[in-house]
Amino acid sequence: MRPVSKFKPGDTIEIEGCTEQIKEEYDPYRDARKPLIENLGRYCSYCETNLPLYAHNEVEHIVPKKRHPESETKWENFLVGCNACNNNGAKAEKSIIADPEYIGAHLPHLNNTFLSFKYEEGGFVKVNDDLPEESKKHAKRLFNLVKLGAYGSTATPADNRWKNRMEAWNLANRHLNKTSDVDTIVDLAKGYGYWSVWFTVFKEYPEVRKELIERFPGTAQECFDPENGYEPIHRNPDNASDPV
Ligand SMILES: [Zn+2]
Repeated sequence: MRPVSKFKPGDTIEIEGCTEQIKEEYDPYRDARKPLIENLGRYCSYCETNLPLYAHNEVEHIVPKKRHPESETKWENFLVGCNACNNNGAKAEKSIIADPEYIGAHLPHLNNTFLSFKYEEGGFVKVNDDLPEESKKHAKRLFNLVKLGAYGSTATPADNRWKNRMEAWNLANRHLNKTSDVDTIVDLAKGYGYWSVWFTVFKEYPEVRKELIERFPGTAQECFDPENGYEPIHRNPDNASDPV
């Protein structure tokens, strides 16, 4: 899962040629849509799918608005989300600040979530087994929260994330074998989404990884080491129990 850097209230951004400031609150919350997309790109913050232009529900509440109405309009509670992650996951009915099962779940704007999971052959995704115990627990909570591992018969009929991820994996591998130029690869990745799939497949190509980091809006650059092939590094090194 691509780690992202979110703008903070007071930051200035350009939207359609106008300079705007990020606000603490957006009421109605849908007004946060343009600044969010400008900040993070048109990709689901969890499954990384490229959201269609006509999608109208991209503003994702990290803490569910039904259970925590006080957080409904707060910028700090927003990410970009697709229907599958929002509705098919456990998020719809669970609270990530009240349910012990989800407290401390990794989140893409706070943790290096590229370290939280591993993407494998066929776009299969799993919790990274190499993490320290506490980190693994928190990665697993996010995994369960949005049902990231739903695959084949375990996915609901409306949940095509695993199929799309598999297609992205196959597409990325076709271009790996064809040694396509960097621009073509990054353009395809941007059009298709599933950043982590491309970033994994092109592990041995730092020039591709660099462009994937720089050309997807809002990627948390500090999460990757340019001196070491853009391998992921800890985002919270001062947190001894969960440095991820
Ligand atoms: Zn999603």
